[in-house]
Amino acid sequence: MVTKSKLKQYAKLIAKKGLNVQKGQEVEIFADLDQPEFVKMAVDECYLLGAKRVHVNWSYQPLTKSHVKYQKQKDLSEVLGWEIAKWEHMADELSCRLFILSEDPDGLSGINLSKFQASQRARKAVIKPIRERMENKHQWCIVAVPGRAWAKKVFPNDKVTVAMNKLWDAILTAARVGDDPIAAWDEHNRSLKEKCDKLNALGLTELYYRSKSSGTDFRVGLNPDVVFAAGGEVTEGKEVFFNPNMPTEEVFTSPLRGKAEGIVYASLPLSYNGQLIDKFWIRFHEGKVEDVGAEQGEDLLRELIAMDEGASYLGECAIVPYESPIRKSGILFYNTLFDENAACHLALGIGFTNLLKGYEKMTEKEAFAKGINDSIIHEDFMIGTADLSIVGTTKDGKQVEILKDGNWAI
Ligand code: ZN
Repeated sequence: MVTKSKLKQYAKLIAKKGLNVQKGQEVEIFADLDQPEFVKMAVDECYLLGAKRVHVNWSYQPLTKSHVKYQKQKDLSEVLGWEIAKWEHMADELSCRLFILSEDPDGLSGINLSKFQASQRARKAVIKPIRERMENKHQWCIVAVPGRAWAKKVFPNDKVTVAMNKLWDAILTAARVGDDPIAAWDEHNRSLKEKCDKLNALGLTELYYRSKSSGTDFRVGLNPDVVFAAGGEVTEGKEVFFNPNMPTEEVFTSPLRGKAEGIVYASLPLSYNGQLIDKFWIRFHEGKVEDVGAEQGEDLLRELIAMDEGASYLGECAIVPYESPIRKSGILFYNTLFDENAACHLALGIGFTNLLKGYEKMTEKEAFAKGINDSIIHEDFMIGTADLSIVGTTKDGKQVEILKDGNWAI
């Protein structure tokens, strides 16, 4: 049973270790309607840390469907003055942003996809320059709570109440909400940092992925000036340490744009915009997606890589050992926050400019010119298997085994 006190511990962990809310800061929370009581707990914990104002932005997938159905594409694409003002306010204040996910992985199925994607693309392009003002400068965190439809999707053979309880359990376990979650996260952050330090000391120029069981055979170029990161991040300027994802098991970097060859096979389905893409492969040539195939959702995958020029290039390579506690739970969450931490993955779309050494003194444009990909999307997909091996090449041409039979070799 999930007790109130466990939930309170979770809410406190999110406010303290996820966002690390500072005195006098504003907090914007984005949540679905599934868990209003938990959202209130999170709000209270932010206030207890000294937040000046906490604002909750509620959403409801059936409403999104109605808007897409009834609004003209032009109206759906427009970002209104008050929305821009709100974004400007967040960028001025450097508000914390907390995303509490609970949505149904299939909750948007049946919508007019090209209309929806086109409007998203238009809206993101308008908001992008404002977003860039707060990039790397504010704390943000993505966490999850169970929604009824999501719980039924994960545990289809259970009654809703049982499924909800099981999903709460799985979420809290993955987020290390045990006896002392704060201490557990300090330890977890420390051990992830150790892996990063080892990888960064190697100065890698290439990763070679191979999995006999899936068919993955793929090389990707790295820029040794782009570091591996994991766990927590520090805001630029105010130097506030926060954990953008809870849970997180990955050690990740941004690859060198233009250098990717070969084929990768997905090892888990991808839930994208409320719809599933499953049993798919992607072939790269000169860094760019050359072809794709999928047993389910191939149209969706093709739409995804066509979102903009950068959507067909890679923005992330993440290493997650096969022994990850999330993979070991055996649960397929149909949610990237969890599933990406069950397996090694790649992401199409924008990379992480803040991983480039000296990025603080560069404009975004300069960072992109150094081979970090730019796009309006960033979409993870999982390729890790029990027999995945990753061999790195260092800048002086040495080969280093990084992952062997799915697990860390360094
Ligand atoms: Zn990732």
